[in-house]
Order: sequence, then structure tokens, then C-alpha cells
Amino acid sequence: MYQVYALKYAERDTTTCQFFYRESAHDPLTLHYFVWLILGGPTPVLVDTGFPEDEARARGMRGYVSPAVVVERLGVKATDVPTALITHLHYDHWAGHALFPAAEYWIQQDEIAFWTGPHGGAPAFRQSANVDSLARLVTLNYARRVRVVRGEREILPGIRVHRVGGHTAGLQIVTVQTARGTVVLTSDASHFYRNVETRQPVQIITSLPEMLDAFETIHALAGAEKLIGAGHDPLVADRFEKVEPGIVRIA
Ligand SMILES: [Zn+2]
Repeated sequence: MYQVYALKYAERDTTTCQFFYRESAHDPLTLHYFVWLILGGPTPVLVDTGFPEDEARARGMRGYVSPAVVVERLGVKATDVPTALITHLHYDHWAGHALFPAAEYWIQQDEIAFWTGPHGGAPAFRQSANVDSLARLVTLNYARRVRVVRGEREILPGIRVHRVGGHTAGLQIVTVQTARGTVVLTSDASHFYRNVETRQPVQIITSLPEMLDAFETIHALAGAEKLIGAGHDPLVADRFEKVEPGIVRIA
């Protein structure tokens, strides 16, 4: 059976009006930045890659620790990770891919098409892009290290990705079968528990209907156990077992 961990590698303060769809309040809001690690299988499976230090500096992040270092706290060498499931290609999920130099990266075809297509460079989207890391998609693909996914796919027995879109064109969420039930790693299909629990979208979107559908998909996949790992929510540490500062075991 698998164990699923959320590993925090940075944080940043913003306000609710910058974040929730058509929100007018200016309440403070802190984002935690995570990668997730699935242990207990034949090899470790990483979900998302974070970003490197120069990106942390450029974006004024607080408390940055390299994702390559945080996975070592669970006994996994970054250079030994063979599988990385990439929920989407925003800078905070993809720009750190080179920290995991042995990995194959599983990415939805719709996501790759979007960021290499006509709208990726538009001001509405570009601020979420790390262009150099997006350019590397081509060389990595020719090195046979990009595994292009369409829709739902089993990665290992009990680990699946599910394309939901909404926040980005080909966003995929991850489900993991554990002894406690099905863990759903929503990534940015639900940055905060408030998103999925009140059906309130984020304001960074490619499709509002898909984002709303994604909330229903998350609830259906999670079932009664509600082992939901939200994408950027500090409450992850309150809802699940704190292993050490910055490391939470979801199941
Ligand atoms: Zn994100």
C-alpha cells in the first residue's frame, strides 16, 4: 500500500481578492507551495517538481527550500526519482523539473499543446509561465522523457491521473489507493479547501465550466474518506499528520 506526503518548499502572502473568482474582500491569504511524494510502491513517484532558487528569488518567495532537498528528508534522492506526474505546466509545478534529472514526466497532451500554442504568451497566462522550462519540453520529448497522457491513465497499480482542465487547459489530478482510502491530490484544481468545498473557482482559469466540473470529480473520487490534498492550502498541515516541519503525511 502507498503512503502519500505533501512536502512544502516555499510560501508567499497574497490577498483573497487576488485569488478567488470575483472576490472583493482583501483578506490576507498565505499560499504554501508543495511537491508530493508517493512511497510504498516499487519506486517513488513524485507529483510536480516545484521551482528552482532563481525563480524563488524573482517571485519574492519566503522560506524556500529546494524540492530536491525536501524529498531527501523522506529518504529519496532527487537523482533517483524515475517518475514525476506533472499536474500542469505553471512555473511552480514544472520549472523545477531539472532538479529530478532521471525522471520521466507524465503530462497531459492538452497541457503541452496550450503552452506551445497561440495563447500561452498572452498576458493573461504568461505570468504563470517559466519560458525556459517550457522550451525544454521539446528536448525532453526527443530524449523520450516526456510521457504524453490523454485523459485518464493508470501509472502504477493504484495510482492514476485524471485530466480535469479548468485552471489550465490540461490540468490533471492524481488518485492514490492507500490503507485509509483514496487520496486525491487536486493540485491547482483546488488551491484551497475553500475552492472545492464551496465550489468557488480561482481567478486563474482557461475554462470555468471545466473548473466547476473538476470540483464534482474531486468529491466523487474522494468518497466519504475525503483524503483530499489541496494544492496550496496551509490547512493541509492541520487536516493530516504532521511528520516534521514542512512534511505532512496525508495517508
Ligand atoms: Zn500552483
